[in-house]
Amino acid sequence: MKTWTTEEILAIYHQPFFDLLYQAATVHREHHDPNKIQVSSLISVKTGGCPEDCGYCPQAARYHTEVKIHDLLPVHQVKAQALRAKSNGISRVCLGAAWRNVKDGPEFDQVLDMVREVTKLDMEVCCTLGMLTENQAKRLEEAGLYAYNHNIDSSEEYYKEVISTRAFEDRLETIDNVRKTSITLCSGGIIGMGESVEDRCGMLKVLANMTPQPESVPINALVAVEGTPMEEEEPVNIFEFVRMVATARIVLPKTQVRLSAGRTEFSKEGQTLCFFAGANSIFAGDKLLTTPNPDVNEDKKLFDLLGIIPQSPFEKHPKREVVEKENAQYQPLGENPKWTRPEHTIERNEAAKERGKRFKASSK
Ligand code: SF4
Repeated sequence: MKTWTTEEILAIYHQPFFDLLYQAATVHREHHDPNKIQVSSLISVKTGGCPEDCGYCPQAARYHTEVKIHDLLPVHQVKAQALRAKSNGISRVCLGAAWRNVKDGPEFDQVLDMVREVTKLDMEVCCTLGMLTENQAKRLEEAGLYAYNHNIDSSEEYYKEVISTRAFEDRLETIDNVRKTSITLCSGGIIGMGESVEDRCGMLKVLANMTPQPESVPINALVAVEGTPMEEEEPVNIFEFVRMVATARIVLPKTQVRLSAGRTEFSKEGQTLCFFAGANSIFAGDKLLTTPNPDVNEDKKLFDLLGIIPQSPFEKHPKREVVEKENAQYQPLGENPKWTRPEHTIERNEAAKERGKRFKASSK
């Protein structure tokens, strides 16, 4: 398989716009049906109160944002939400928990039950739960998990400007653990955090050089939430975003390229350009974890206008058998791995934390 350099990816990214679009659309048609888009729905199964300091995230406990914290949802509630999503033509449900890493115990057992129950609805289930050991990945695989999301967020170099509570290598280690199972990998990042185009292409380089490449790559545009360290970042320009999608499509030809956070900022025409450039997955529903997202009906109208049909579940990869917990081969090991805590200082994260502290003190 080809090994990409950042320079090669930059050369693709900087082509004249129409050349880039033509190349991306050509690659897209070679590997995918251009009139099919996979539609996912995100359920925040545990919201807020996260100990990490990701500079873009309103769920980090240290920043003061409007996010309403809630504990782990009961399985029946998640199942009901998934059924509602299914009735809206959604084929995949992504279960997100604001955790640093998975811990063996009743909460993880509850998530495993969610995975079993939603998989039995004939829906693809993806989880995003933070860092994960090999045994935990195997337990998710046995429960029937279809995909695990673990974003690398940005280039290795810029990662240090975004998060100080864990290291880029920890992300790669979790990805390796997922790759020891048959669970598919969803990993991408965010643009608009103040990074350079070199960082954006550097991130694509890491993803494109994975063997195998991720089955799914979300490209998020930062939603600058008040109270987070990135609250003042300017919105991403649509032409830069389309360039990023097109470049991702070219270097990740078989991957499903997902439009994730930030889609609400783009016009229908802008989103259409993204689809033409090779984006073939969206998140539907009025919320993406904690930030706004276009309404399902708006997406349906756009699909009708463009003649797009939603991808069926398990079209790209087969459904996995669900092993009930009493028959499970992998049991909890009570692991407590020491994931890295680099704790270098990121000025804007520290400033937002201080603002959060002042707010908490003044509201006592
Ligand atoms: S992105 Fe995830 S790990 Fe980072 S603060 Fe938010 S919930 Fe926590």
